[in-house]
Amino acid sequence: MPVPPRYATSLPDFFHRTIRPAAFPAPQIVTLNVPLAHQLGLDVDWLHSPAGVTFLSRGLLEEQADGGPRGPVATAYAGHQFGHFVPSLGDGRAALIADCPTADGHVMEVQIKGTGPTPFSRSGDGRNTAGPALREYLVSEAMHALDIPTTRALAVLTTGETVERDSGPVPGALVVRVARSHIRVGSFQYAAVHGGLDHVRQLSDFTIQRLFPELSDEGPGRHLALLKTVIRRQARLVARWMEVGFIHGVMNTDNCALSGETLDYGPCAFMDRFDPMKCFSFIDRESRYAYGRQPALALWNLGRLAECLFPLFDEDENRAIEQAQEALHEYDSLFHHYWLAGFRRKLGLEEQDEHDIRLLEHILETMHTGKADFTNAFRMLGSPDVAIRGDHAALRELFPGNRGHFDLCRTEILHRLTLEKRSAEARQQAMQTTNPRIIPRNHQVEAVLSQAMKGNYQPFHALHEALKTPFAEKDDGLDIPPRPEEEVSYTFCGT
Ligand code: AMP
Ligand code: MG
Ligand code: MG
Repeated sequence: MPVPPRYATSLPDFFHRTIRPAAFPAPQIVTLNVPLAHQLGLDVDWLHSPAGVTFLSRGLLEEQADGGPRGPVATAYAGHQFGHFVPSLGDGRAALIADCPTADGHVMEVQIKGTGPTPFSRSGDGRNTAGPALREYLVSEAMHALDIPTTRALAVLTTGETVERDSGPVPGALVVRVARSHIRVGSFQYAAVHGGLDHVRQLSDFTIQRLFPELSDEGPGRHLALLKTVIRRQARLVARWMEVGFIHGVMNTDNCALSGETLDYGPCAFMDRFDPMKCFSFIDRESRYAYGRQPALALWNLGRLAECLFPLFDEDENRAIEQAQEALHEYDSLFHHYWLAGFRRKLGLEEQDEHDIRLLEHILETMHTGKADFTNAFRMLGSPDVAIRGDHAALRELFPGNRGHFDLCRTEILHRLTLEKRSAEARQQAMQTTNPRIIPRNHQVEAVLSQAMKGNYQPFHALHEALKTPFAEKDDGLDIPPRPEEEVSYTFCGT
């Protein structure tokens, strides 16, 4: 199998700038993802050695001959931030340091976030701090354990430096992030606005070779095929987010990866009580990226990608636009397909009934008016008490806001279950593997981060360990929603 091409060596300088990451006073590994290191073919003892720590904090600085990985680069991209186009963003504090071939024939990019100023830093200091770095590590790895496509986290290091933030001086840190590719919708916008169609074609061809080599068989149709593939992946990704109550928080086009991986763990959060308009991000004043708006916002971002790509579809401009429109038009039905399949699995439904969408919408509406905890309500629907013995008393208690609606909704669910052919036991078993017992709840994440800031990393490691097996039944209290005084109302962008 041919090794896929690499970003920094395959694309011309237009797409990136060679950088020299900062030399920090005392870089030190706080947490290292050993299974991921193995997957990347990186020797764990070496990563802990001085040379390995330099690799994790600055990359390989010597240029290597024979097309080997060259020095770290910052990638160039543009982006619509909260709907406003910014022509030049780029990695203002990140360095792409390596491409690691994996045993399954892929290449994974390794990027360090927090490596100091780059040509794209604008007024930023290029730094990252311990709180956001640990948060990204914890939440992205929790997403992976939930089987949701995501960038991974290889390590967090403290830098030994103190960084000034609005809140005062905080410890500097780095998060080492791993992705199939960091190419974003914003990368294409950058190519289109600063380069032109040849640059867009170059990036499209590179993306195809790197991520979807099978599309090159499509010949001149490959660019349209790329758009369709990305549309499908985004539809599937956002449906998965909706299934676990994940709110990305900053779905700007520069944070929308063509690989279909969740990218950029800034102000993201999981919701406790179900609320379709839930939004945690402090800077998202208009709730543009609220939970229930995510499916529509993903389509909006895909529209921006289509605007860059469509001139490659056909020499006849009208025909090209038509093809882009048709591809975008598919998004709604793709999203609904994935959403319905996912929520049917959450309810343990194997059969398909034309009224299922309405039933699911009613369940969610009942959770909303009932002020039910999203994760716990679904988990309890799949408990032996409810799913096998038909005892709904404890579940009813999870709907304090409207127990009457709950009773009506329960009748509907029981009626629907008469269409199912498999045993209640089999259905219950299946539900236990689709509805997580635990998610990284904000109050827990904030609590372990505040301990870590005081130098006590034990709670962080314990929560990280627990989140590796989110479906396992345990008695650790991590499924308990926040008490009113523990609730976290806002998350802040990771700076
Ligand atoms: P984000 O909101 O994380 O998607 O970042 C948007 C843009 O701001 C990207 O170009 C980042 O590289 C840049 N950025 C964020 N924080 C910093 C920082 N501390 N220093 C320099 N650039 C930054
Ligand atoms: Mg970003
Ligand atoms: Mg960010």
